[in-house]
Amino acid sequence: MAQSNIFVTQPFLPPLEEFIPYLEEIWAKKVLTNNGPYHQQLEAELARYLGVEHISLFNNCTIALVTALQALDIRGEVITTPYSFVATSHALLWNNIEPVFVDIDPVSLNIDPTQIEAAITERTQAILAVHCYGTPCDVEAIEAIAERHQLKVIYDAAHAFAVDFKGRSLLQRGDLSVLSFHATKVFNTFEGGAIISPNAQTKRYVDQLKNFGFVNETTVVAAGINGKMSEINAAFGLLQLQHVDHALDRRREIETRYRQALEGVPGISLQPRPADTRTNASYFPMFVGPDYPLGRDALYEAMRQRGVFGRRYFYPLISDMPMYRHLPSAAPALLPVARRIADSVICLPIYPALNDEDVDRVVGLIIEGAVPSAAVA
Ligand SMILES: *Cc1c(COP(=O)(O)O)cnc(C)c1O
Repeated sequence: MAQSNIFVTQPFLPPLEEFIPYLEEIWAKKVLTNNGPYHQQLEAELARYLGVEHISLFNNCTIALVTALQALDIRGEVITTPYSFVATSHALLWNNIEPVFVDIDPVSLNIDPTQIEAAITERTQAILAVHCYGTPCDVEAIEAIAERHQLKVIYDAAHAFAVDFKGRSLLQRGDLSVLSFHATKVFNTFEGGAIISPNAQTKRYVDQLKNFGFVNETTVVAAGINGKMSEINAAFGLLQLQHVDHALDRRREIETRYRQALEGVPGISLQPRPADTRTNASYFPMFVGPDYPLGRDALYEAMRQRGVFGRRYFYPLISDMPMYRHLPSAAPALLPVARRIADSVICLPIYPALNDEDVDRVVGLIIEGAVPSAAVA
């Protein structure tokens, strides 16, 4: 019997018939964008759900990152991680800012705070950190460094929807946090994103920047961009929000099933569960070590041959990409941990519609590969 392919993620889509009334409402009201009723409602409901006060919706996370840097008027150099999706650093280049890469911590896989201070120069204005896979950065250490050196902190929180740390939303940390609602993320609006601001004044400025810099009908205060989310996307977000607890629960069940099955498989290692954190099981990374009979890429290919499409998130490192590798901080000798992780990671399929049999099939391939006599064809 032919088995169907399993991909690393599948967009989370509520039943179509539940979306129709929202569309009818949009057609009736004829408001398609520009802070329409669904947009306002989604901001209010997300703020409540996420446990934050001030949220500004965007058309995607990348434009939101670009805008966050502008909202804080960041220039010069920004310290960031090489182990992320490329948009993190691209947002710096779009602002003419030089990324300064700092290696990651081998456990959290987030920027290593003990190495940040050595990278600070007179031109450094901010730290752009990523809560990779939803694992919280060492926010306390980062905040202490930022305070000592008067730096701003922006978190790329694209993976951190609904993550709580020490009993409150992780999104409350830093000067700004930026979310992604892309189709592949835990909570999606097809395309979308958001900035979490610490106060109403900052939110107001962010809202102006995402609307060309308009403050009223005739006054433009900055070279803002078009970062607005449409009513269709906002309506879909409202519908999705009704299902998101269930989606998160299922993700966490899958995570537990993977952990139980893969712990102790020779040559495979997993990230420990972070302390004091309610995670969102947004990704399930595993690391293929030298003791595994196959190399990482061979296992990745063997799984694909058998219909299981993991992803090497994040490989290659951002610092290895052509627009970054000339930077002094991109020198391979400076980033050994990030390189080792990028060369060993495979993110396994995880999404609410994945059933237990699918999880067991994925695990079976990995265990099979772990037995040298049963070499994967
Ligand atoms: C997905 C992602 C982005 C980009 O999000 P978009 O909404 O697609 O622009 C940025 N940073 C990280 C870490 C991501 O995973």
